[in-house]
Amino acid sequence: MSRAGFRWRGSDGILALVAVLVLAVGVYYVLAFYLVVPYAGVDYDHNWVILGFDEACNTNPAWCQANSASLSVGDQLLAAGDLTLERYEHDRTAMPFAGYGPGQQVPVTVLRDGAIQRMSWQMLGPTLRTRAIRLSSLLFFLPFWLAGSAVLLFLRPRDGRWLLLVSFNYLIALWIASGIDELYRVSSAMLVCAMLSTLAAPIFIHLHMLVPTPLEMRRWRWVLYGLYAVAVLGCVWQIWQPVPETAYLGAMVVGIVWSLAILIVRSFGSGPTFVRHTARLMLMGVSLAFGPGILVWLIPQLAGSATDPGMIPVAIMTLSLPLLPFFYIYALYKRPLGDLEFRANRLLSLYSFILLFGLAFVVVFLAGNNIFLAIALANGSLQGGAPQPVFESTPAMAFALGVSVVFLLLALRAWMPYRRFVDRLAYGTEHNPETIIRTFANEIPRVLERPALARLLTHDVSPALLIRQSALYLLGAEAPALVYADGVAPCREPQPVPHLTEVLRRSGHYVAPDSEQCFPEPFAWVRLAIPIEVEGKRMAAWLFGKRDPDDYYPQPDVELLTTLGNQVGVALETTRLFEDLHRRATELETAYRDLQRLDKLKDEFVQNVSHELRTPLTFLRGYIDLMIEEVLGPVAQPQREALQTMSDRTEGVIRLVNDIISLQQASAEQMVQEPVNLGVLARSCMEAAEVAARKHNAEPPLHRFRLELAEDVPHVIGDRRRLAQVVDNLLSNAVKFSPDGGLIIVRVAYRAGPASGPGLGDVARQCALLEVIDQGIGIPAAEIDHIWQRFYQVDGSSTRRFGGMGLGLSIVRGIVEAHGGAVQVRSKEGHGSTFQVILPLAPAAVKVE
Ligand code: ADP
Repeated sequence: MSRAGFRWRGSDGILALVAVLVLAVGVYYVLAFYLVVPYAGVDYDHNWVILGFDEACNTNPAWCQANSASLSVGDQLLAAGDLTLERYEHDRTAMPFAGYGPGQQVPVTVLRDGAIQRMSWQMLGPTLRTRAIRLSSLLFFLPFWLAGSAVLLFLRPRDGRWLLLVSFNYLIALWIASGIDELYRVSSAMLVCAMLSTLAAPIFIHLHMLVPTPLEMRRWRWVLYGLYAVAVLGCVWQIWQPVPETAYLGAMVVGIVWSLAILIVRSFGSGPTFVRHTARLMLMGVSLAFGPGILVWLIPQLAGSATDPGMIPVAIMTLSLPLLPFFYIYALYKRPLGDLEFRANRLLSLYSFILLFGLAFVVVFLAGNNIFLAIALANGSLQGGAPQPVFESTPAMAFALGVSVVFLLLALRAWMPYRRFVDRLAYGTEHNPETIIRTFANEIPRVLERPALARLLTHDVSPALLIRQSALYLLGAEAPALVYADGVAPCREPQPVPHLTEVLRRSGHYVAPDSEQCFPEPFAWVRLAIPIEVEGKRMAAWLFGKRDPDDYYPQPDVELLTTLGNQVGVALETTRLFEDLHRRATELETAYRDLQRLDKLKDEFVQNVSHELRTPLTFLRGYIDLMIEEVLGPVAQPQREALQTMSDRTEGVIRLVNDIISLQQASAEQMVQEPVNLGVLARSCMEAAEVAARKHNAEPPLHRFRLELAEDVPHVIGDRRRLAQVVDNLLSNAVKFSPDGGLIIVRVAYRAGPASGPGLGDVARQCALLEVIDQGIGIPAAEIDHIWQRFYQVDGSSTRRFGGMGLGLSIVRGIVEAHGGAVQVRSKEGHGSTFQVILPLAPAAVKVE
């Protein structure tokens, strides 16, 4: 309830007026019942069938004697004085026995056993008992009026559910008030009661559809509007034309049953927990309000008891009925009640407990009474007269005493479980230490971050123990760090360690508020401090303050919290480790990104330098060649040899620079897309290799070459120049790493079977296969995975036999992958290697040269 809610506003005056008006109407009808309705001394129903008498012969023998030959239970009155039953049925203002004073004789016509008889009836007149009964009907009206007015004046927001709850309570209040007088036709009581009954159905149903959260209204909205329309029309119609009682009461019953059905479905349905809890609380209110009265009335009927429960059901109903409106208000406005919430909970728990327990007591008592009565009748010790409770005998007294003692002891045992039951309904939690520890122990391993731990402690653990204020501080080398603060303003400044040390010095014991030992500020709110230790090291302080109902922490609860504290310690350690891990992973990721950036910078640098080197180197080699060919003048033999060496070395450097540039350019966008016949390509590359081999070596060539082409040579789409570079590089390696006279095979074929590559996917499908096979030195198994890396060479030593920079294969892989293909190698040290290039086939429609 917000503070602003209590401020008096203009509209509150109107609302107060409404409340006063409803009260006035209710009190008016009760007073009318008390002052106006004649005290005939006989009870009858709507059909004027006699139900009973207000006084018994043992309490008023004279009056009983005067009426001894008159009415008896079961008779039907046909006329009382001037008023006939027929006129009563049609006239909504006809009051039976009107105008007859106490002791006067009323001529009555009676239908008894099918025969019409005339007799006279002596009016009883008001007695203390009848007056008290009539006045007590105010007790049925008042709770609903009080509940309605409380909602009307004090609860916010003033929305649809507020309006419906007010209407619900006021409607029932007025219905009860007018219902009392309805039989006696006081001041339109019959009409008012009938109209209210008619309006009840839509209001009841609407309220239960709107709370605790609106049901899927769209589908039902029109049904509801229809119900309202019918109800209002029905109300207006009744002003002119009375409708049968069964019609309007039937409508009300439909409303009640429908609302109950909604409540039951929402209590046990699959909705959110909050909705289920609220609906269950409301259902509990309904059961507690009507259950006891119905039970007490029903049990003797079912048991065929001879004992008349008399006023007991009415008394129980009077006590139980107020539970309905107050359970409803509690269930729906639990949260905004704020500080009052807990008190309201305990009040309702206690009241309903006493009621239920009293009911059980009454039932047992009545049953006992019944047994003793039966015994007394059997023994013949009780003769004639109405059955009366018999507690005069010693065994009966002993029974009464025994039952009372047993019930008292039972009440002491049953109170706590009952309270827990209501708590579970209200809060969805169980104030049960064992369950809390078990639940929490299961939750701990799941908590990996501090906010999640804080949530668990504040949302689950604290409410379960009814703790309203708590905080958790992590103690480090520096100032303590706050993990969470619940219900207390978190200290903005980090608290100096001595403060917390002082609090922890007196940990493990309850410290009474406002006592002399109360903690210094800012920890004056603390009632209990629990130190949390892990491996003997104090790592946190768990502080507790306000707690329901009385701020007290008994020793068993201190122990429970200490046990929980140990588990929190483990959780804190886990979160610390996890957060460390997380931090390191982030650092590593940043470092990796930096490295990637640096790598890119390096690549760009190498690329730029390479480009700058290529042109002057080409010039250099051109001039050297011109000099060797004596275009620039004659050259002596020693100079020629030197120039030849210079030309070879320059050629090597140019190749390296070209390789570096190729490496950078191996991306799909930089590739030309053209149809390529792999057979033609392989042949030209092999021929070039043969020429080169011949050029560098003496005749006959040191290596033998063989080309193996599939019959229908595969075609691919790609960059012919770059694919030629692939074959050249592989052939050059084959030549380089083969012994003299070694056979080098270039094979082009189809390949069916699984292969993986960027453009190949992992599916088994047909591809083009190009293989370069040599019988050279082979590659050690441990090296095979590394040969594709840039600048990697199996023999990287300075004394290595073979030249090269370790770039050839990474260029091969770059180009092949840019074509959506894959590379593989099979090799055995000392026996040779087979390099495979797998490329996706060109679509069948592509025409190749
Ligand atoms: P390099 O310029 O050194 O040849 P590559 O990238 O072409 O660079 O090859 C990397 C390494 O792979 C070579 O240094 C060599 O050790 C090994 N290698 C490549 N091809 C063959 C082959 N056909 N036979 C044996 N080893 C090979």
